[in-house]
Amino acid sequence: MSEPVAAFRSVAIVGTGPTGLYTLHHLLRSPQPVMVTLFETGSLAGVGLPYSPEAAQVAMLANIASIEIPPLSQTYLDWLSQQPDAVLAVYGVDKASLHDRQFLPRLLLGAWFRDELERMLAEAPLHGHRVALREATRVVDVAPVGDDLRVSFDAGEGEESLLFSHVVLATGHVWPDDPAQDRGLFVSPWTGLVEAQVPAGPVGVLGSSLSGIDAAMAVACQHGRFTDGDRAFHPDAGAQALRITLMSRQGLLPEADFWCPLPYQPLVHLTEAAVLREIGDGADGLLDRLWRLFVAEMAVADPAYAETVGLAYLTPEGFADAYFAPRLAADPFDWASANLAQVDRNTAARRVVGWRYAILRMHEPMEAAVPELTPADRDRFDALKRVFIDNYAAVPPQSIRRLLALHRAGCLDLLALGEGYELSRTDGVTEVRAEDGATAAFPVFIDARGQRALGAEDLPFAALRARLAKGAVAMTPDFALRDVGDGRLFLPAAPYLLHRMPFAQGICVSADMGAAVARAIQPDAQAQAA
Ligand SMILES: Cc1cc2nc3c(=O)[nH]c(=O)nc-3n(C[C@H](O)[C@H](O)[C@H](O)COP(=O)(O)OP(=O)(O)OC[C@H]3O[C@@H](n4cnc5c(N)ncnc54)[C@H](O)[C@@H]3O)c2cc1C
Repeated sequence: MSEPVAAFRSVAIVGTGPTGLYTLHHLLRSPQPVMVTLFETGSLAGVGLPYSPEAAQVAMLANIASIEIPPLSQTYLDWLSQQPDAVLAVYGVDKASLHDRQFLPRLLLGAWFRDELERMLAEAPLHGHRVALREATRVVDVAPVGDDLRVSFDAGEGEESLLFSHVVLATGHVWPDDPAQDRGLFVSPWTGLVEAQVPAGPVGVLGSSLSGIDAAMAVACQHGRFTDGDRAFHPDAGAQALRITLMSRQGLLPEADFWCPLPYQPLVHLTEAAVLREIGDGADGLLDRLWRLFVAEMAVADPAYAETVGLAYLTPEGFADAYFAPRLAADPFDWASANLAQVDRNTAARRVVGWRYAILRMHEPMEAAVPELTPADRDRFDALKRVFIDNYAAVPPQSIRRLLALHRAGCLDLLALGEGYELSRTDGVTEVRAEDGATAAFPVFIDARGQRALGAEDLPFAALRARLAKGAVAMTPDFALRDVGDGRLFLPAAPYLLHRMPFAQGICVSADMGAAVARAIQPDAQAQAA
């Protein structure tokens, strides 16, 4: 009997950031010919929002190094080492000192992604695939039509549509629109801040993590320069009034990224298999059972730390308090300075901080259990979630060095807002009232809080929205919508996943999602993609 012939796949990938790119990469590695149309609303496909000139400047660093970035046709480092010296110099990079743990400007990473896209476009026909690219084309809707999916799009000349067998909505980040035309108010760092001229005066930045640091860098680099290996900041003449205030509930700065063995060494107790076993034993008491695994893992990884914080006697909430307490008690810049010195020493000596490395590795298996927690346990998990995020969202040491330089130059401060803070904007000034009653006023105010979780009602596709119940979008493990599209419509986009995958951000997640989606579309992509 002859083998059944697989139906020909005609795939639309909407969005060409890292998730769209890795999906394409894995699809093209399938021996079955596939036809792919890429839609990208931006004028330059393949770059991805955080790595594009619209959202990044040279001073903004990626917090992931080549050693962690899943290769495309080659590793990021291999590509870097083939670039001309003069090109690297534009990004402040010296070819002779390139290495696989370096944190480099996000723009450079975007240039690699773009080159990889061009290579895929050129090589696809050699393997029997066909790929069409539609840049500057916004997809406006998706709807099932019989066995197909209709994609409606607008390339600036009115709406058109095409039919596909599969659609991948790799639409990435969603930031608030900026309806108010207020030149001093940025509803996100990606709504015009990179091009805006910000006066050298008080600038309030809500958020003190990676996006907050980006916002501070965007403003600081307009008014001065860093020297001495980023240890000093010199405001330009006339820019002495620059005062950036980073604000967050706790008033903490992120930690500097620390040295650790990569790829991750296996965990002993809180393994994927152990988490699956606990999930199998039911939702009641699941968080407490996982917590026992967490405690056991920490006791192996760093017995001294476990002993010092009294881990064996703590709940998840109690541990989160104990984890942040020393930082909350210290001056944040003194703490950052000491943390940076420790990271520099440990990196030079290849020394691992056991408890940090254990927490970093545990966030991945732990995430699988989050959708299975009872609502009460989900609330309790929030405390632990902050600990995990604090670990994996550590920032490049160079970013901390620059923050310290800005602070020493009198251009940067930090404000703890507490839980019950208030914001109001009147007559072009944002007034911030912290929980303890302290107030501050900012003519320029940048909201740099991270990506918030979105639901079906937030989808920018009206026909699709109308077919889905409000709230978290139900999806299969390979990111296919459960309620529309018969398993052929995929939504691997972080904002819609955060409800059940709270750590769904970053290039490695994009690569994993791309591989999973490609396997679901073209099952024989599996062997190649693994
Ligand atoms: C400021 C910032 C910095 C970050 N830095 C890092 C980092 O250093 N390291 C790391 O690992 N992760 C980082 N991240 C996390 C980030 O989530 C991922 O690295 C990655 O960008 C996610 O890729 P994506 O393709 O899902 O989304 P995106 O990069 O957002 O790409 C989505 C693409 O879809 C396009 N698009 C959207 N809607 C439509 C439509 N309707 N029609 C057509 N095209 C559309 C967009 O134009 C965009 O090109 C950062 C995130 C932010 C916000």
